[in-house]
Amino acid sequence: MHHVVLAIFLFTLGACIGSFLNVVIHRVPRNESVVFPPSHCPACGKGIRWYDNIPILSWIALKGRCRFCHGPISPRYLVIEAVTGGLLVALYVCYYVLGARGVAATEPLGSSWPMYAAHAALLCGLLACAMVDIECWIVPLEACWVVSVVGLLSAALKPHPFLGAPVAITPKLFGRPFVKPALYDAGISPTAGAIALAALVGVGLAFVLLRYGYIRQSFIDASDRQLDQDPPEPPPASSGKKKKKKARDAAVVEKEDVPVNARKEILWELVYLAPAAVLAVAAWLVVTKVPAARGVWKSWHEAGPIAQNLGCAEAAVFGYLVGGLWIWGMRILGTLAFGRLAMGMGDVHILAAVGAVTGWIVPSVVFFLAPAFGLIWAIRLWATKAQRELPYGPWLAVATLVTMLFHGAVVGFFATYAQAIKQLW
Ligand SMILES: [Zn+2]
Repeated sequence: MHHVVLAIFLFTLGACIGSFLNVVIHRVPRNESVVFPPSHCPACGKGIRWYDNIPILSWIALKGRCRFCHGPISPRYLVIEAVTGGLLVALYVCYYVLGARGVAATEPLGSSWPMYAAHAALLCGLLACAMVDIECWIVPLEACWVVSVVGLLSAALKPHPFLGAPVAITPKLFGRPFVKPALYDAGISPTAGAIALAALVGVGLAFVLLRYGYIRQSFIDASDRQLDQDPPEPPPASSGKKKKKKARDAAVVEKEDVPVNARKEILWELVYLAPAAVLAVAAWLVVTKVPAARGVWKSWHEAGPIAQNLGCAEAAVFGYLVGGLWIWGMRILGTLAFGRLAMGMGDVHILAAVGAVTGWIVPSVVFFLAPAFGLIWAIRLWATKAQRELPYGPWLAVATLVTMLFHGAVVGFFATYAQAIKQLW
């Protein structure tokens, strides 16, 4: 019974968050503040009254029209609110009712809510990123950063049983153990923790150097999704898309006017990553080769009031770096190999955020799972002759959702194959 009450509460909460996501999805790509001004009708500009701003219900009551000018209000508002509510409920049901992640066995929502909140924030952030990415071909990096910070804070303040704390739990799917706990533990060793913290400092240092002009930025705007990575342009299906296609064509033409040596440009990203690599190696040497440092570092992780918090925070940072590095590594290698830009920086930030919240295992699985979803879509497009290609961000989002909700099955599947490959070697 209490599951039903909680589900209703979470759906309502999710619908309210969805209402905010609608604002984010509409305003962030337009470089507008998400706080000010308050919601207004896009047609007549009149402010929306509080009683017309109730998630889902108001849209239905007004039949999708503005109260004043009767201009249409996109059904997207209704859909996003309902989907966000649905995501929060699905997350709760999969984690706490079906035990897809072994949470219910150890901790109810009452005590593990910071973990639930971080995972819910991740799903909400991914939804916003996917929507903006589909519409504008950009990833709102701010959304990724907020989610990453939430993930790190939640891990540091309330250690998750599966995110680095030394608690061995048996992962379950539908209440039954699925794989050996050892395969599952997203926790990391103190040495890996030291490497992760040092690498994060290195990334921060490089960011400061970039801001003050000591490192040159690669390409024109490395923070935006690069547009010349898409497949050949298919004929657009509608006028709205036509406009976007034209803008993208223009962007591509501009780039062709000023020849860019992608292989040379990508080297600046290696320079950016160099401080992180140097510090990571230094940290590894210190905690493994210097006996005094090794002893102190180990003792911090074994006892004391913050041992678990430290371990979990390190696991979050490690996940953040591993998630980001999968895509960034692929971007650098792909660009060096093919001489044209592979993958957008936005995707790096998306998978980094996934890792900050869930640890290193989920983004590693997502990295291999996402192309499969993209491929299914491509086959469908080819079979139906419909033309609507999508950027990569939404596939990362879908793969993350599937990996989180069916954690036991998906991670177990990959763990089994990873072990088989390991044995072949
Ligand atoms: Zn209006």
